[in-house]
Amino acid sequence: MATPLLSINDLQVRIRANPRAQLLRGVSLSVGRGETLAVVGESGCGKSLTSLSVMGLLPDGLEKHAGTIQFDGTDLPVTDNDAMRKIRGRRIGMVFQEPMAALNPVYSIGDQVAEVIHEHETVSKAEAMARVVELLTQVQLPDPARIVHEYPHRLSGGQRQRVVIAMALACRPDLLIADEPTTALDVTVQAQIMRLLRDLQEEMGIAILLITHNLGLVAQMADRVAVMYAGSKVEEAATRELFARPRHPYTRGLLAATPRPGRRRPGEPPLTEIPGVVPSATDMLDGCRFRPRCSVAVDLCTRQDPSFADSVACHLSTREHA
Ligand code: SF4
Ligand code: MG
Repeated sequence: MATPLLSINDLQVRIRANPRAQLLRGVSLSVGRGETLAVVGESGCGKSLTSLSVMGLLPDGLEKHAGTIQFDGTDLPVTDNDAMRKIRGRRIGMVFQEPMAALNPVYSIGDQVAEVIHEHETVSKAEAMARVVELLTQVQLPDPARIVHEYPHRLSGGQRQRVVIAMALACRPDLLIADEPTTALDVTVQAQIMRLLRDLQEEMGIAILLITHNLGLVAQMADRVAVMYAGSKVEEAATRELFARPRHPYTRGLLAATPRPGRRRPGEPPLTEIPGVVPSATDMLDGCRFRPRCSVAVDLCTRQDPSFADSVACHLSTREHA
């Protein structure tokens, strides 16, 4: 198999002031070139922390204390902010939930997108602006020549997210990290944005790490899915396989709470919660961290934390396949 574009190995993140508070407990993920990996799970499972770790943007007070993150064959210098600034935007693009947070209200759209280009490349103003118009066309914004002069507040939420996508793609990155890219948008607009991302991916051969709680999006977009629970990856499979034969009790719970992908329409609600709550990072649970919510737990589950083997972390699955 070719070396993956992004390879996260045994990533552990904790609260610096309270090292027992483990937020990521050894997460391993990989994304191949041109591939889409979706990372799903309820809020607090660590999926956003995983993507922030990759970008070197962990919030203050948190630290990566073990594990490696490799990008295109070399270690990402995630704690070196200057080095990461050169990689973010140029090699790794980012799209977050709230487009307004990524845009500066006092600069025109044209200036903001051009700034991304100027930050990473030496090009003339005119050349940058010509590329901006091209990018805005590519993200299917109407009348790009007019939009370059507009300010963010004059655009709709969906249009703003298209601008953010244009910024993320301005330097033709190899990887796009999209963290809940459509959650803040109307449902019809959500579908349009996802279609746009898929089209752009096909056109540019870009890899996507899609962070979402919305299994409908996963079914539409992803080649593979990693399911996270309480700071660990509990299952990983090809998208079709995961929907057809979920193996971890948590994955089954997530799917049971979601309409079947084929019949899912925009407008349907995101996942409903599985009874019980996700344990907090400081909860010292013996055994499997899903046990308090698991309806099929056995004795062993209280004593031993299942390791991830053969695409799932659950004692029952290991037995099934023994
Ligand atoms: Fe449930 Fe046990 Fe599997 Fe954990 S290891 S998910 S408690 S059956
Ligand atoms: Mg999140």
